[in-house]
Amino acid sequence: MFQWLRKRKRAHFSPAGPALGPVLQSLPLWAMLPAQDQAELAQLVPRFLARKSIEACGGLVLTQAMCVAIAANACLLLLRRKHDLFPHMGTVLLYPAAYVAQHTQVHEGGLEEQRQDVLLGESWQRGNVVLSWQDVALDCANIDDGFNVTLHEFAHQLDAENGAMDGAPSLPAGLAKPWADTMAAEYAALCARAESEPAPDSATESAAECADSDAADWVLDPYGAEDPAEFFAVATEAFFEDSPGLKDRHPAVYSLLAQYFNQDPASWPGWSGQAP
Ligand SMILES: [Zn+2]
Repeated sequence: MFQWLRKRKRAHFSPAGPALGPVLQSLPLWAMLPAQDQAELAQLVPRFLARKSIEACGGLVLTQAMCVAIAANACLLLLRRKHDLFPHMGTVLLYPAAYVAQHTQVHEGGLEEQRQDVLLGESWQRGNVVLSWQDVALDCANIDDGFNVTLHEFAHQLDAENGAMDGAPSLPAGLAKPWADTMAAEYAALCARAESEPAPDSATESAAECADSDAADWVLDPYGAEDPAEFFAVATEAFFEDSPGLKDRHPAVYSLLAQYFNQDPASWPGWSGQAP
């Protein structure tokens, strides 16, 4: 771990930088959004870049376009509602591509196992988000395939804000009970399907970037069957990246997420002309 720590380069970009607006507007996501959301995102992205660090790892040369892309995707989760701009997240560590992470897994009885995992991203409960730029860029170019590692990892940040990364973020009054009931039932259904059907390869953290027809058929990535926290993260990806599909195939999940995020992305003008 310490080898790559020494190789980090810290980056801040001036919120008033002249190129920020055009860079933001060049993202395919921008054209999907209603004008109200575009205006709010244009306010939020400079605030995110002013308050958070984005650090290059593994020899990556950081650019403003990379930082704006990450900030825009992260801030998409904050539009139209009260928030504190991911208060526990200070730094995004950005690798050029999928990276190898060392993890210690503690089994029953206290036995520790050292594991090496190839990851596209990570979200630490109080601290950092780690991302693969190759996958962030792929997600920025493919905004309707249901996969988005930045949305996934920042959904984990929202989930953790109330102290537990358990699939239940801080919820508006009246939403906790239907959230618990519906998400538990949908999570159980995804677990049952993931056990009984061959699934697209999603062995890495967050969704594997597979866009074949099998993957599209799932709408909710079977990686969400890992645990309720992953279910919320993959549901968030589908909510924004396959909004018509999630609304059609999992209307109860869509409805809860629409209430939580206070957004209705299936109605975005950018979806017009696209098949659900
Ligand atoms: Zn995850």
